[in-house]
Amino acid sequence: MTIDRREFLAALGLGGAMVVSGACGEVARAATRGVARSAAPVPPPDWSALKARLAGRLLLPGDQGYGVARLGYNELYDGLLPAAVARCTSAADVRTCLDAARGHGVPIAARSGGHSYLGYSVPNGGLVMDLRAMAQVQVRSDGTVQVGAGARLIEVYAALAQAGRLLPAGSCPTVGVSGLTLGGGIGVLTRKYGLTCDRLVSAEVVTADSRVLTASECSEPDLYWALRGGGGGNFGVVTRFTFSTEPAPALTVFALRFPAGSAASVVGAWQQWVADAPPELWSNCVVSSGTPPTLRVGGCYVGAADALNPLLDQLIAAAATQPSSRTVQGKNYLDAMKYMAGCANDTIAQCHPTFEGGRLPREAFVAVSRVLNAPLDAQRVVQLMTGRTGVDLLLDSLGGAVSELAPDETAFPHRSALASAQIYASTTPAGKAAATAAVDAVRDGLAALGATGTYVNYIDASLPDWGTAYYGENLPRLKAVSRQYDPDQVFTFPQSVASA
Ligand SMILES: Cc1cc2nc3c(=O)[nH]c(=O)nc-3n(C[C@H](O)[C@H](O)[C@H](O)COP(=O)(O)OP(=O)(O)OC[C@H]3O[C@@H](n4cnc5c(N)ncnc54)[C@H](O)[C@@H]3O)c2cc1C
Repeated sequence: MTIDRREFLAALGLGGAMVVSGACGEVARAATRGVARSAAPVPPPDWSALKARLAGRLLLPGDQGYGVARLGYNELYDGLLPAAVARCTSAADVRTCLDAARGHGVPIAARSGGHSYLGYSVPNGGLVMDLRAMAQVQVRSDGTVQVGAGARLIEVYAALAQAGRLLPAGSCPTVGVSGLTLGGGIGVLTRKYGLTCDRLVSAEVVTADSRVLTASECSEPDLYWALRGGGGGNFGVVTRFTFSTEPAPALTVFALRFPAGSAASVVGAWQQWVADAPPELWSNCVVSSGTPPTLRVGGCYVGAADALNPLLDQLIAAAATQPSSRTVQGKNYLDAMKYMAGCANDTIAQCHPTFEGGRLPREAFVAVSRVLNAPLDAQRVVQLMTGRTGVDLLLDSLGGAVSELAPDETAFPHRSALASAQIYASTTPAGKAAATAAVDAVRDGLAALGATGTYVNYIDASLPDWGTAYYGENLPRLKAVSRQYDPDQVFTFPQSVASA
């Protein structure tokens, strides 16, 4: 990965702390740090000085632990070699990192769960601000939850479940709450309770110039708007989130497998079914490439099996195909989240990456996406998957609570979408080019059928129209927020909002 710094920056360190009061009674401590431009070459950061000042550990190449500390989730990007990995323990550590690295010509990125599809949280030759140690989850008596930016989803689910509360979020247990929320956050409770970003009440953010701000409806409202779907890595480093939660009800999970040869009729029926479904029902439809492709439908229902079963019967009748298997199971919130995550029989500790003592390995994969605004021609969708091997098309239903907000109400623009379509292939470094060509061909085929948007959390290096595909008409406002909060592009990566 190459990250172009447009200009070298020089940090002047003008310093000076002041207290900023948010209108909603939130008080944030802010410290101004002037930043000026310079054409002259600048020396690299003084890593030894940073090491001495940081409360957490700073790992440099050669230090014990650096080899693991630098890795993200996607093994295809294991070749990225950051100059330093800072294990930040607080917002103050993030400020210290920014003060040390800003203006020294190295890329800087925050890393939370490390699941960026393209390894954007591991800047080559730059500084990783690893927030993983900041993972406290505190459920409060007012129904909100405070979540440290380094928390993985399974940690959020486990803490909420203990308090009988829920937060709608993604299905993979090891994904970081930060990247997920900042790009939107699609999951199995989304249609009933909204995107994760729709639940964001406020965020503590360290800006590029080292101010610590609170972004909420009444404090830094433009930043608050951008943080809800504008994509990770763009506007500042979030160090803590406050979300609204809901009481956790009983849930029912389900899985239907359909016989080979029925994919087109099921895809056609499924698209209409989710368009008409109540918000309590969330479903995905997975078409696996082959000759012919195979298909399964899964999902989660907010309520009891008795109410779900007639809905499943409707899908089966519309598809005019009996499933070869049908599983319907009632579960409590935490068990349903573990089931959807593929770690139903694991402890919470096991639902962690192997390098943190858990059972879940990292993966090497390529994945891209499109967003469906209306049902597509099912025959042609299935044709796109026919004759290929090793590619999955995952249609995840949207609508319901997602569509209750206008496209410009938060930065997430796909409010009227029927579903997201992710095209995924597990691969190896040697197979990457062929796998990329395959997923790109399906993506472009879907675009030709009318699915033109793209979900920024499935960030895609070869997407031709990425700025508008991710953000639609919200792009100009996002660029303005980026200019306001990071005028010198301290945070930059190939698909940053500023570069769109
Ligand atoms: C196996 C897998 C399953 C997934 N499942 C889902 C799903 O169910 N639903 C869904 O919506 N998405 C899903 N995703 C996509 C996921 O939401 C994105 O990959 C997301 O960006 C990951 O966030 P992270 O914190 O783990 O990643 P990171 O790699 O840590 O961060 C991603 C980006 O955000 C930036 N960033 C990280 N932390 C911060 C911070 N605190 N402040 C500012 N910027 C920050 C990084 O610099 C980087 O650019 C999945 C991804 C994978 C790999």
